[in-house]
Amino acid sequence: MRLTRDPYKIWISEIIMQQTRINQGLPYYLRFIEAYPDVAALASAPEDAVLKQWQGLGYYMRARNLQGSARYIMEHLGGEMPDNYEGLLKLKGVGRYTAAAIASFCYNEPCAAVDGNVSRVIARLYGVEEPVNTGSGERQIEALAREMLDRDDPGNHNQAMIDFGAMQCVPVAPRCNSCPLAGGCNAHLTHRVDQLPAKTPKRLPEERWFYFYIIIYKGEVVLSKRGEKDIWKSLYQFPVVESEVPRSDEEIVGTLMPAPVASRMKNVILSGPVRHQLSHRTIHARFIHVEVRSLPSSLPPEWMVVSLHNLEKYPVPRLIHRYLESVKI
Ligand code: SF4
Repeated sequence: MRLTRDPYKIWISEIIMQQTRINQGLPYYLRFIEAYPDVAALASAPEDAVLKQWQGLGYYMRARNLQGSARYIMEHLGGEMPDNYEGLLKLKGVGRYTAAAIASFCYNEPCAAVDGNVSRVIARLYGVEEPVNTGSGERQIEALAREMLDRDDPGNHNQAMIDFGAMQCVPVAPRCNSCPLAGGCNAHLTHRVDQLPAKTPKRLPEERWFYFYIIIYKGEVVLSKRGEKDIWKSLYQFPVVESEVPRSDEEIVGTLMPAPVASRMKNVILSGPVRHQLSHRTIHARFIHVEVRSLPSSLPPEWMVVSLHNLEKYPVPRLIHRYLESVKI
């Protein structure tokens, strides 16, 4: 993906690759670039279509930020991507690493791009003891990265550092025996390779229980759109009951059942538990397939009835996407 100097393509690839493995992200990148080959195409696309392209990648905020920034570029920058680090940093969702990567790869600006790979290499080479996931640890690593930077060829330097971390100085069992830097590597010389980089423990994820009601009537199904707050903003879902504690099967098909369909049930099938991990939250989901004899004439305002044939046109959270791939409705 970096065989290009097109800042738009590098930007899209860097955002897709955040929290995504290369073999998973590459097909998304190719499809995304085909659908939206430039900033103007992305800016003018309907939001639902962009979210649909993103479906399965998770962290939808990335897609929303991309499109929000594309619109900003069209409206305020004459359709041209910013051509320097400071300008790139103003784009929503673009942090210091991504801005430095685009600025150095595309414009040869001398900025050090520090991602997880680079941070690990530097922490080991210099024996940085400060946890790298704290503000002061990040500042130490970035200062060292700036010192090391080849200012005449920052793009290739950054790419080499990233590749070195990804292939040689890997997180577990780095290849120290064949490493050209072993003679000057603090972690290797002090036998602390498995202790560095230091990290502060992550807080335990919060747990939530989601009960999705797949309400079906004559080839149609009920969807609702999630609100602006909380996770999965603006994505579609089946009507859901969210709980902070697990609920029994009796409650799921009894008191929790959405009122508009509770008296119209024909068949009910419960899925087994489906676990879904978000960065700070573990979701335990159940899907309740409810076939109804009829739909009430007046539905809750957030509900919409769509044809089952059109269901796949609606962008849904990854959890629902994976479930729909595994069952036939
Ligand atoms: S010697 Fe080992 S820990 Fe040090 S840079 Fe090389 S691979 Fe990484």
